[in-house]
Order: sequence, then C-alpha cells, then structure tokens
Amino acid sequence: MEYSIGIDLGGTDIKAGLLSESGEISCRLVMPTDADAGGKVVASRIAEAVLRVIEKAKTAGIDARDLVGIGIGSPGLIIAQTGVVHFSPNLEGWADVPLADYVKAELAELELPIFIDNDVNAMTLGELSHGAGVGLKNIVCLTLGTGVGGGVVIDGKVYHGSGNTAGELGHTVVIPDGRFCGCGNQGCLEAYAGARHIVERTIQKIESGRRSSLTHCLSDLTPKRISEAAQTGDELAVEILAETGRYIGIALTSVAHILNPQMAIIGGGIAEAGEKLLFEPIRAEVSKRAMDIPAKTMRIVKAQLGNDAGLVGAAMLAFQA
Ligand SMILES: [Zn+2]
Repeated sequence: MEYSIGIDLGGTDIKAGLLSESGEISCRLVMPTDADAGGKVVASRIAEAVLRVIEKAKTAGIDARDLVGIGIGSPGLIIAQTGVVHFSPNLEGWADVPLADYVKAELAELELPIFIDNDVNAMTLGELSHGAGVGLKNIVCLTLGTGVGGGVVIDGKVYHGSGNTAGELGHTVVIPDGRFCGCGNQGCLEAYAGARHIVERTIQKIESGRRSSLTHCLSDLTPKRISEAAQTGDELAVEILAETGRYIGIALTSVAHILNPQMAIIGGGIAEAGEKLLFEPIRAEVSKRAMDIPAKTMRIVKAQLGNDAGLVGAAMLAFQA
C-alpha cells in the first residue's frame, strides 16, 4: 500500500500523520511550531516531525519506500506552484518564505516530493476526498473559527484563482457599511461570524439591556459558551446563533448564484451548535433569497472530519499529485 505524510501547520502546533490513500491515519504526533523563530526553524521542525512519523511507521511495519510524498497545509496566502508562504496572519513576520524548498533541503536524503497549499484548501480537499463531499465535483467549504475561511472545488479540483487567493468566502460582504473586518473592509461575513465578532455582538446586546444567562461570564465569553447557553434555551444565545446563521445564509446565497455548487460544507467550532440552532437558519435564509435551481442544488451540511480535516487534506495533496 502507498502512504503519504500530512502536515497541518498551525500558528501554535504542527500536526503530522502518516496516511493511506483511503484516509486512514496510521500514526500521528503533535509538536510546537515556534513560528516566531522564522521559516527555516519551522522547516526543520516539520522535517523532524516527518522523520519521527517515519520512525513510528517503521515500528508499525510500514516501509519508508512506500511513501509517495509529503503534503503541508499552511495558514496564509500560499503560492502552491512554488511552495512559498507569501504571507500569513498566523505566522507573524513571515514574508515570501520558500517553505517547501526549506523542508526539501532538510529531508534531501528522502527524495520525496513536497506539496503545500493553504490550510483551508487542504481541509476542503480532506472533506472532498474523505468527508462530507465524497463523490462530488463542485463544493465549497466554510470554516468558522477565529476567522472565517473558505475553499472552493470546481470539477473535482481545488480552485486557486489567478493570484492564489480564491475561496475567501469569509470576506463576502453581508452588510454594506457594517462591522469592520480585519481585512480592512466593512460588513464581511467574518465580521459577524468570526469567533471574536460573535462574542462582541453578544456583549453589545447584553450591555444594551438584554437579559441572558451569559451576563455573569462576559469577561471570558466564547462562541462555545454561547452555543451551550443556546442548547439550554437561553433566548439571547439562540438569537445570536440564528443571526449568525442568517449572515452565513446571505453569503451562501451569493456562492450559490456564482458557483452553483452541489454542497456547502460548514465546519469549525460554532458549527457544533447543530442543525436546529445554526443550520436551519442558514438553510431558511438561502431558500428565502436564492433562485430556485442554485438553492435546491446546494446541500448545506456539517463537515465530517472535524479537527482531522486539515491533516487528511494535507496528506491528500501528495496523492492528488
Ligand atoms: Zn473581511
């Protein structure tokens, strides 16, 4: 059987794993990124993670000769063709770091090809190959975390656009002149559905006099807490999630009209709020706004791979090539 090594590079941790083409994770490990130390140091950490995974694989009876390559999912604007991290908000100070070349130099003796893509593109590929989107050709992925990330698959391939920036669904404008977004624009989906913004919207409502069981934990409020309060029937929390769903639905209406995908897959922390609290408001908004055919074609579902989507997708970068 053939294997590849997936690397899910985050601002805090490097997750590494050995995967078969069927998406099975044979062995895995996590180590700190040390992003502040710069691209060369992080490349040597990735190399160390790869070698440790190979060691682990040997004890499980897997031969390094069965490896087809290494795939890396990295946050930020990635030039996939050249393996360069152009810029990343999660890897502070990085500018045009030739990460794939650095890792390749560290692992020269392995003679393995190295592939790199944006982390959300990798997650999208993960969901396409082994998650909610198996067997489909045209899908979009939305990840709700600190930021709101997006990925687009057209005719079975992740679409990168002309300058490698395609898929920024989180920066679809949902409210003209709305809340300020980290990208500099106003009214982006991320400025309503990003973790910090969900919390801020909740605090604003409580400070304007709304009653809620969340009043006592304003200083350490998180989307998870809001979601938990909603599960127990807190009216304000239910409303915040319904509004969040509505904004996502507005953005997905544009996506449905522009791309006419078969499926919109939604993952990330707040997606755990579930069918009734989040997904029903999303679907209601899309069916209210979108034209008949694009609305009916686009199934809106929860991501299936959870925290492993990035790792699985990174490993699939090598198989895909
Ligand atoms: Zn924005």
